[in-house]
Amino acid sequence: MTFKDLGLAEPILKALETQGYTNPTPIQSQAIPILLKRKDLLGVAQTGTGKTAAFGIPILHHLYLAKQQQQGKHRIKALVVTPTRELAIQIGESFTAYGKHTGLRNTVIFGGVKQGKQVNTLRGGVDILVATPGRLLDLINQGFISLKDVEYAVLDEADQMLDMGFIHDIKKIIAKLPSKRQSLFFSATMPKTIVELSRKILGDFEQVTIKPQQATAERVEQRVYLVSKTDKPKLLVHLLQDKMQESVLVFSRTKHGANKIVKKLAQADIEAAAIHGNKSQTARQKALGAFKDGKLKVLVATDIAARGIDVEELSLVINYDLPNVPETYVHRIGRTGRASASGIAISFCDVEERAYLRDIEKLIKQEVPKITEHPYVDDSKEPEKPQKQKKSNSSRNRNRNRNRSGNSNHRGRNSRNRNNNNRNNSGSRDE
Ligand code: AMP
Repeated sequence: MTFKDLGLAEPILKALETQGYTNPTPIQSQAIPILLKRKDLLGVAQTGTGKTAAFGIPILHHLYLAKQQQQGKHRIKALVVTPTRELAIQIGESFTAYGKHTGLRNTVIFGGVKQGKQVNTLRGGVDILVATPGRLLDLINQGFISLKDVEYAVLDEADQMLDMGFIHDIKKIIAKLPSKRQSLFFSATMPKTIVELSRKILGDFEQVTIKPQQATAERVEQRVYLVSKTDKPKLLVHLLQDKMQESVLVFSRTKHGANKIVKKLAQADIEAAAIHGNKSQTARQKALGAFKDGKLKVLVATDIAARGIDVEELSLVINYDLPNVPETYVHRIGRTGRASASGIAISFCDVEERAYLRDIEKLIKQEVPKITEHPYVDDSKEPEKPQKQKKSNSSRNRNRNRNRSGNSNHRGRNSRNRNNNNRNNSGSRDE
């Protein structure tokens, strides 16, 4: 199937050609026909599947055809709500690219920056608004935005919105939408709260489920380095010194950890920058821009901040920490090997993370090859699981102390179950 077969308006086909897109991705070939029929859509898919074009193209198509029939003022007819600034900017860029020849206007609004410029652009009139929830509500409440003309409403990365505590904002936004509209709802996972939320938004809908994980994992060359927690900085420096020419994305589980990694690299004269929720918008954009342009070779990111990163030439991803949610691993390594290119994903695994590694291998149905020859090998044995027997007073006290110090080493069934239970909303927490 080609985009031409989908019956899209000529200016959009022309823009897609410029982009070098010939064939729709699976989510596009399934979702676009549904959306062209003006049905609501539930998309279970994540970034990297071509989801933005899957919703962007039909919206542009409808708006373009309507504009041909009745010229009028630019009013907000399509609204896309997405959790992070990075994603918002990326979606805005996609609308600009695909809608280049349509005469339709889009703009992006997000928090963390002054509102003046955004308000001015809105005053000039836009057809498509891409927004993060907080700033959107803020500008609605100040009277700068009205949603009364919205005909197409997209809720993007709904599970991440939930994760970031946006659920109440989202409900408020939905309440302000006209009831006659086409609704699109995207989420990578479908925990109960998200299913309930989708029911609130969607009318008569069709569902498209895309699972890119396995396919992505197969394309990426993966390796794991067994290393102690204390040697991780040295191993990172050792590996990066070898790869100075490549763009490398390093994942850190926490914001604090990301800052520490940047510091350690600076001590070894390796320039790196961190992006995470505590960084200012300007700092994040600057770092991301430099990374995309190839001026900055090493970017350290937390999972949430990294969701919006779309860098085509990314050949190496390093998991400085292994995520406790296996799906997050797949998502991380999918940052390399985009489109059809292959990439390399290196993971550091300390003794406490071995259980995470086993969970990951179970999910991707393959063993990740271990690199046994490196200067910081730590193949020490995992601590034994505690015996299931009536505890003596002294062992009870020992465990209590261990838990209190936050240093519990055992990751037995209980801790794994806890991870599983939290899986849907702890995977990308930007702590
Ligand atoms: P997304 O899931 O929307 O973040 O898209 C992931 C990447 O795939 C982006 O770099 C897009 O530019 C690219 N992409 C989307 N659709 C296509 C397509 N049909 N052909 C080639 N690349 C695409």
